[in-house]
This record gives sequence, structure tokens and C-alpha cells, in this order.
Amino acid sequence: MSEAKLIDGRAAADSLRSQVASEVADLKARFGVTPGLAVVLVGEDPASQVYVRSKGEQSLAAGMHSVTHRLSADTPQDVLIGLVQSLNADPAIHGILVQMPLPRGLDEKAVVEAIDPDKDVDGLHVVNAGRLSQGLPSLSPCTPLGCMILLRQTLGDDLSGLRAVVVGRSILVGRPVAQLLLQADCTVTIAHSRTRELAAVCREADILVAAVGRPRMIPGDWIRPGAAVIDVGINRVPFDDPAKAAEGRTKLVGDVDFKSAREVAGAITPVPNGVGPMTVACLLANTVTAARRIHGI
Ligand code: NDP
Repeated sequence: MSEAKLIDGRAAADSLRSQVASEVADLKARFGVTPGLAVVLVGEDPASQVYVRSKGEQSLAAGMHSVTHRLSADTPQDVLIGLVQSLNADPAIHGILVQMPLPRGLDEKAVVEAIDPDKDVDGLHVVNAGRLSQGLPSLSPCTPLGCMILLRQTLGDDLSGLRAVVVGRSILVGRPVAQLLLQADCTVTIAHSRTRELAAVCREADILVAAVGRPRMIPGDWIRPGAAVIDVGINRVPFDDPAKAAEGRTKLVGDVDFKSAREVAGAITPVPNGVGPMTVACLLANTVTAARRIHGI
């Protein structure tokens, strides 16, 4: 069998961002509505700072109103919740994202639950999770939305009847991606750390989504020939080259062993530049969706 088609997440994210920018321009011109995104960063976590900067820059580039609130790591819970409540009440803000993880001592769940579900563009509020599980209009988490866009671009809009296996059941990725696949009329299996005979379960999949966080855990011989493989995992490992590894240099790999998987799969996302770039683009898309709904457009 020939090598799998590479699913290009960077190109897909570029195209989604330009689609969002034209929707923003249309909302401004026809309705006088500028979608607004507020991002809240608590503390100094370096990775979070990079993510937050990128969210701010990309929302501005799409023509959106964008504000970033930076709070110190010792911010009390009630002050953080007070900020979220003021953003809930701010008519210029349609999307609120509190960057996770929060510093120790802050209750992440309580903070997420304080966000107005209609402005919960990260899709993590229980109301949005409930709406998603009942097949109602919701704001869905960004990475799972990105997975679905990549799948539809690869396999076409109609995923109905395909067998999908999702490895991982987190609230952030595994569960919501499984719900979205179910909404798309796939036959869905959710696997996790207690699943027996995981290799055999994976081999049943026309669509295999890996969201585990274990480097190269899924080898090519767990993959059904021709399957579409979406690798959500982002894992930092030493370089294979011993000289580079000895210098302490690292690289990113997914949960799927890309080299062997590519020999078998029909299509596969690389890591990096697969699912990753879709996450922020979907955050922008969710903010436009929230603005439309809030204004009844
Ligand atoms: P979590 O740690 O929250 O969840 C991991 C899941 O994998 C759990 O459900 C766990 O099962 C399951 N699991 C762990 N070990 C095994 C195993 N041996 N066999 C089968 N299942 C197993 O991770 P997340 O969902 O938050 O993230 C998963 C990966 O995706 C990470 O690498 C993360 O960095 C990446 N990620 C990438 C994003 C992107 O933008 N591309 C965004 C978000 C995450 P159990 O529930 O039984 O413990």
C-alpha cells in the first residue's frame, strides 16, 4: 500500500482563520457587531504565556476585539471569579477563555463554571458539555472541533456509519471528540487506560483519534489499512540521534508512531503541524459563533 496522505493542519488552520476574518468583516459591516474575545492569564507559566499571546495576536489579525487580562499567581479565587463575572456582563465581549492550568490554590472547575455558558468559547462548561451530549447547539471544545474539520476535509462531509475509535476520555479532548463523532453518525468506541485488547479495538477503526499523552504509543500494526488517523497527542521526547539527545535536545511527537502508521493508514496528521494549529483557529471560530448567537444573527 502507498504512503498515507498527510493531513495538513497548518493549511487548514490558515484557511479557517481567513474564513473567520471574512465573517468578522461581514458582522461588522452588516450588523455593527465586532466579535470580542477576552483571555485571562493567571501567573507566569511560560507555555501559557506563549499560548495567550498567540490567541491575542490571532484574534486581532482576524479583525476581532481582543483583550488580555494578566493577573498575578497569588490572585485570590474571588477576585478571579469577579473578573469573569464582569466579562460575562460586558457587551463588547462574546468569548471568555481562562488559560489553564491555573496556579495551585485556584479551583479550575469553579472558575469555568462561573463563565456564562453562552460566552464559554473553550466549551468546557458543564452546560456546553451537556448540550453537546444531547446533540443540542453548543460551544464545543476547540481541539475536538479542529479534529472534526480535518476529518471532514479528508473524508468528505458524510462520516455516517464509519467506525470511530477514540483513545482517551478526557473532558478536554476524548469525550467531546467522541460526542462530535456520534453527532456525525459514526459508530463510536471510547477507549481508555482500562480498555482490554486495545490493539484489536484500534484495528476496527475507520477513524482513529489518539488523545492519550504517551509518545508513539500506537504502532502501525494497530491501524486498519486505509484508516484516517488523527493524532492529538503532543509529547516532548529526546532526539533519536544520540548526539543531539546527549545535548539535551528534544522534539515533539504524537501518540501514534508516525513512521509505521504512515505505511498503513489512508491519511494521518503529523505532529507538529497536524491538530495543534487548528485549536486557536477554532477558538476564533467559536467566538464568532458566540457573537452571532448572542446578537440573534
Ligand atoms: P489526559 O491526561 O487528560 O487524558 C488522557 C487519556 O488517555 C485518559 O482518558 C486516559 O485514560 C487515557 N490513557 C492513558 N494511558 C492510556 C493507555 N495506556 N491506554 C489507553 N488510554 C490511556 O490528556 P488530554 O486529553 O488533556 O490530552 C491528551 C494529549 O493531547 C496530550 O498529549 C496533550 O498534550 C494533547 N493535547 C493536544 C492539544 C492540541 O491542541 N493538539 C490540545 C489538548 C491536548 P483514563 O481516563 O482511564 O485515565
